Amino acid sequence: MLKDKVAIITGGTRGIGFEIARVFLENHAKVVIFGSKEESVNEALTSLREEGYDVDGYYPNLNEFNQVSQVVNEIHQKYGKIDILVNNAGISANKKIDDTTVEDFQKIMDINVNAMFYMTKAVVPLMKEAHHGVILNTSSMVSIYGQPSGVGYPTSKFAVNGMTKSLARELGTFNIRVNAVAPGVTNTDMVASLPKEMIEPLIKTIPLGRVGEPRDVANAFLFLASPLASYVTGEILSVDGAARS
Ligand code: NAD
Repeated sequence: MLKDKVAIITGGTRGIGFEIARVFLENHAKVVIFGSKEESVNEALTSLREEGYDVDGYYPNLNEFNQVSQVVNEIHQKYGKIDILVNNAGISANKKIDDTTVEDFQKIMDINVNAMFYMTKAVVPLMKEAHHGVILNTSSMVSIYGQPSGVGYPTSKFAVNGMTKSLARELGTFNIRVNAVAPGVTNTDMVASLPKEMIEPLIKTIPLGRVGEPRDVANAFLFLASPLASYVTGEILSVDGAARS
């Protein structure tokens, strides 16, 4: 479904982003993953290459616009185009507001929101020039309902939805589609790091009776990246087993 499309995936070294990379590669895209550290990028590349895929990786500081822009331009020069950007890198939070420091709040906004803006800002001129592009953002079900602790996380994901819907309206005229996927509780390191008391009550509210697997979420990204979604833009697609909490 993505033959010869060039895709950049941030947070591609593990969890949901790694599975998006794998599903895009299965569908014949050319994939470039970004991660926060050289070691984790190399580990992910080795693992995908062992599966027989030709894949590339970088580890720019996503909070430095100049670095981001330089790496994006390098990739554009190397591949001749960038068709798909997946803004997936993210961190979560679970502290109550009294325990949340100003630095905690800034950190989460830096990666979940500011980095998404920097990546998008670097890629948009290239997509405009090509009069074609797909930008996909990882939101969360908490972007719809909030959550009872870790206020920075839902705050950042509400911002992701705002960026998605606004840029869909701004960039439609350049044939650039912008959508988000809002996963529910998904079986990754991010969820493994949360306390049981937080996760178990959540699972009880899921009508499909299980947490999502990274593949469940990656398939939604595949759909939105593909020509099957050619008239879909500005959408926040929930992939949460109908969890509502
Ligand atoms: P994960 O912790 O397994 O992976 C996070 C990825 O983000 C890693 O590849 C990591 O390298 C990257 N990353 C984190 N901080 C970074 C930084 N400062 N600079 C560059 N890269 C950084 O988490 P995941 O569960 O796969 O989460 C991926 C996305 O899905 C996130 O945006 C998260 O908010 C969202 N999400 C996850 C769940 C869930 O239940 N797992 C639910 C809803 C939304």
